[in-house]
Amino acid sequence: MSPRPRPFLEPEYCKSCLRCIEACPRACITPGTVINPETGLIPVELHLENCNGCGLCMAACPEPFGLRPTTESFASVLDFELEDPAALFGPKIVPNYSEGDEPDETIPLPPCEPLVLKGSYASAIGALLAGCRHVFGYPITPSTEASELMAKILPKIGGHFIQAVSETAAVNMMYGAGGAGVPCITFTSGPGFSLMLEGISYMIGAEVPGVFVNLMRGGPGLGNLGPEQADIKLACRGLGHGNTHALVLAPSTPQEMLELTRQAFELSFLYRNPVVVLGDGYLGQMTGIVKLPAEMKRVGLPAWAVSGDRAHRHNLICSIELSEDDLEAHNRKLNDKYAYISAHEQRADCYRCADARQLVVACNTPARMAKGAIEDARALGYKAGLFRPITLWPFPIAALTTLLPHIDQLIIVEGSPGQLEDELRLALSHAGISPPPITHVRHYGGVLPSQEEILDCIRENTGGPV
Ligand code: SF4
Ligand code: SF4
Repeated sequence: MSPRPRPFLEPEYCKSCLRCIEACPRACITPGTVINPETGLIPVELHLENCNGCGLCMAACPEPFGLRPTTESFASVLDFELEDPAALFGPKIVPNYSEGDEPDETIPLPPCEPLVLKGSYASAIGALLAGCRHVFGYPITPSTEASELMAKILPKIGGHFIQAVSETAAVNMMYGAGGAGVPCITFTSGPGFSLMLEGISYMIGAEVPGVFVNLMRGGPGLGNLGPEQADIKLACRGLGHGNTHALVLAPSTPQEMLELTRQAFELSFLYRNPVVVLGDGYLGQMTGIVKLPAEMKRVGLPAWAVSGDRAHRHNLICSIELSEDDLEAHNRKLNDKYAYISAHEQRADCYRCADARQLVVACNTPARMAKGAIEDARALGYKAGLFRPITLWPFPIAALTTLLPHIDQLIIVEGSPGQLEDELRLALSHAGISPPPITHVRHYGGVLPSQEEILDCIRENTGGPV
């Protein structure tokens, strides 16, 4: 009887996970001491004097070419095949943004009376109805209630809520879950969102979906718990190390907290990209009437997902490209995707804009005050309208452009020192449009513009009722 094969290690395939050490009953494997110059990792070292060829270490090794039996014709495998991942694992699946191995399923819901919900709860329910069963998060005012609700519900419906030790842990759990093709979400606020940016950048680079609900509060730093719109620039322009964008959806009611969270999952999987639902502190805490949709989703498994088995190894995700040419090609592809999203996903709500001469631009909670001010202004005879961007990135410049020919004055209303106005001005500039005069109503630190202030601004910036 021929002896059982002993293990053989190709050091450049060892990821130093140390599983083989735990698996070996004879202490034949020890942690390495020398850095492998090709990988920068420290491969384990074998001392096979007591090895009985049980094979446990080879079974434990997750790397197909880490630990192998010596009897295998290793040299033949090591030929060109090892150089060519396609030969080893089959061709990489080119993502088709709408197809999956297992298609999603739509499930009708029974009719239901409207609910009265907090915005944070509405967002959580929107995620559940979108098929999300994986939530990684932690308590952070003003979004804590969403995580609490998920922690209560998910274990009862086969889902998972993990309270992460940190924001970095949460975003990297999302990176893993998204890479496995699983819809996942986190609920956070400004100080948590900023700590997640590196992971979000990785997810964007690796084209991994995931939904981030950021209920903005006052900044800078830890600021306070008030509803400032402090992260518009961060969400629209600051998601990582260049070549990074994500759709940014701006709800202004609890109903939209539900609807836009649902839609965020669709968009996230459609484009294989994170999506940010950007609310503010009031939206997380305020209650409102919320109608549930007529259907919910049971999600399938996308063809590009890593499913944890060897057959899907060719789908392994990595956000690093060491070749300059490869990285440029990847970034060109990402930028083409952003251009497509910019052209196809702009959304805005236009309220009494058809004949407006003064156009108020506002989003989130300030848009609610602005709407009241428009009503007051109309009652006084002023032709005022409200333009509410629902996508902050991409800014809905196409819809705004159609209104501008009859607009005398743009009034930007926001709870920040001009972050929304900057997005508007940038969009106008890229579109080559000279805007009408722009003025603004701004507050900071949790103070939001009031209906009266906005009305005063409308009255001050017009020739009078028409
Ligand atoms: S084959 Fe068994 S005894 Fe030999 S190194 Fe592996 S686990 Fe240890
Ligand atoms: S299990 Fe495989 S990859 Fe992990 S340390 Fe051992 S040889 Fe290296």
